[in-house]
Amino acid sequence: MEKGNQNVFGIYGLGTMGRNLLLNMADHGFPVAGFNRHDDKVTLLKEESKGNSVQGFTDLTEFINSLKSPKTVMLLVTAGKAVDEVITEILPLLKKGDLIIDGGNSHFTDTDRRYKDLKEKGFHFIGMGVSGGEEGARRGPSMMPGGDKHAYQLVKPILETIAAHVNGDPTVAYMGPGSAGHFVKMVHNGIEYALMQLIAETYEVLKKGLHLNNEAIHAVFKQWNDGRLQSFLLEVTRDIFVFKNPGADHLLLDDIKDEAKAKGTGKWTSQVGMDINLPIPTIDIAVSMRDLSKYKTLRVQAAAIYSDTTEMPLEDNPDEYIANLEQAFYFSMVTAYAQGMHLLYKASQEYNYDLELDQIAKIWRGGCIIRAAFLEDIYSAFSTNAKLEHLLLDKSIQSTLKNSLPGIRTIVSDSAKFGMALPAYAASLNYFDAFRSEKMPANLIQAQRDYFGAHTYELIGKVGVFHTEWQSDVS
Ligand code: NAP
Repeated sequence: MEKGNQNVFGIYGLGTMGRNLLLNMADHGFPVAGFNRHDDKVTLLKEESKGNSVQGFTDLTEFINSLKSPKTVMLLVTAGKAVDEVITEILPLLKKGDLIIDGGNSHFTDTDRRYKDLKEKGFHFIGMGVSGGEEGARRGPSMMPGGDKHAYQLVKPILETIAAHVNGDPTVAYMGPGSAGHFVKMVHNGIEYALMQLIAETYEVLKKGLHLNNEAIHAVFKQWNDGRLQSFLLEVTRDIFVFKNPGADHLLLDDIKDEAKAKGTGKWTSQVGMDINLPIPTIDIAVSMRDLSKYKTLRVQAAAIYSDTTEMPLEDNPDEYIANLEQAFYFSMVTAYAQGMHLLYKASQEYNYDLELDQIAKIWRGGCIIRAAFLEDIYSAFSTNAKLEHLLLDKSIQSTLKNSLPGIRTIVSDSAKFGMALPAYAASLNYFDAFRSEKMPANLIQAQRDYFGAHTYELIGKVGVFHTEWQSDVS
C-alpha cells in the first residue's frame, strides 16, 4: 500500500457541487480527498472544512495516491468535453477495477459511450445524477446512480449516508444499467423546467391579472406552500418575494431582466421525448418560453404593435379567483409530473433501463429540486401498481384531478380572453383533454397523408394497410 492511502472517496473538481459533497462526506466522518487544477478552490475547501477529515490537492498523483484501493474518483466538472479530458488524464494513474463516477449533468448518450469504453479497459463506471444544488450537496442531496451495479455496492454505504433522508429512507437508489442514472436526472430537470414555468405563469396572473403587489403575491405562495402544493420550488419562490438587497426599498426580483437562461437539460428532455415519440408538452413549452424570453428586442417591437388594452376586470372576489388558480396549479403540476413519469416508463423499454418508477419517486421526495408533498402520492401510485403506465390512470389521483378541472378551465379560458400568455397551463389542459379523448381527429391526418403521399392508412375493424387514389375516387 502507498503511504497515506487511507481516503475512501475522492472528488475531482471542487466547484460548487464537488466541494460541498466532499464536505458533506467529511461531516459524516469519512476520510475523503478532493482535487482541483487551480488552487483557489482547494484553499476554499480547506477553509470550509474546519478541521474535518478532508484533504485537498492540486497535485493529481498525490490525490490519487491518497485513495484506498480499489480507488473511487467522482468527477464534478463541467459537463461535456471536460469530462472526457479528465477521464483521459486520470486513467494512467488508476488500476483495473477502480471506479470512476461522473456526478455532473452529462448527456446520457455520452455516459453510454464512456461506460462501454471504460468497461472495455477494465474500469468500473457509474453515471450519477445529483440534485439539490449547493445546499443539497452540503446537507443531503438526492442522487441517481446508474451503470455498474456491482460497483455501486462499493459506494452505497457512503452515498446512503450523505443523501437526504425521508421517513428514514435515503434519497439515493441504483437506477439501472448504462446511462439510466443520467437519464433519470435529465427527466428530473425537464420536470423542474415545467414547474418553474408554471410558477412564473402564476406570478403573471397574480400580477397582471389580479394586480396584486409583491407582498400579496408572497402571501399567496406562502399559503400554497403550507398546503397540498408544498414544494421546494414554491418555498424558493416565497422567499424571493421578500428578498431586498441591504438598504434597498424594493425587491431584487424587480431589478432582474426578464430573459431566462438554461444549461440544456430541459432541451435534452424535449429532444428525447420527440426521439422516442413520447409527448411531454408542458416540458416542451417551458423550454420554448425560456427561449422566447431571450428575444427581448423583438418582444419590445411586437409589444408596441400589438399592445392590447383588454385587461382582466378587477375581481370582486380575488380570494375565489386565487382558489381557482390553486386548482389550476395543482392540475398542471400533476400533469407535468405525469408526463415526466410517462417518459421514464417509455425510455425504460426503449433503452432497457428496467427503471422502477416507485423507487424514482421515492428518492425524489427529498434532497432534490423537484421535491414536493405530491411526490408521496406518486410514490404511492407506483408502489401500489408497479406496472402503472400513466400516472393519470391511478385511482387515487383521479378524483383530486377531476376536482381541480373547474379551476384550470377558468384560468386557461381567461388567459385566452384577456391575452395573457399562460402556455404551460394551457399545454397541461390540452394534453389532458387530448389524453382523455377516446377518439382523436387523427383519422383525418391519416387520410391527408395517404392523399398527398400514398402513406397508407389502417381501417376500423379490418386488418391490413390500405391506400386510395383519392383524386380519382372523388367525383
Ligand atoms: P462549477 O462550480 O462551475 O465547477 C466546475 C468545476 O469543474 C471546477 O472545479 C473546474 O475547475 C472544473 N473543470 C471544468 N473544466 C475542467 C477541465 N477541463 N479540467 C479540469 N477541471 C475542470 O460547477 P458545479 O456547479 O459544481 O457543477 C459541476 C457539475 O455538476 C456540472 O455538470 C453541473 O451541471 C452539475 N450540477 C450542478 C448543480 C448546481 O446546482 N450547481 C446541480 C446538479 C448538478 P477550475 O476551478 O480549475 O476551473
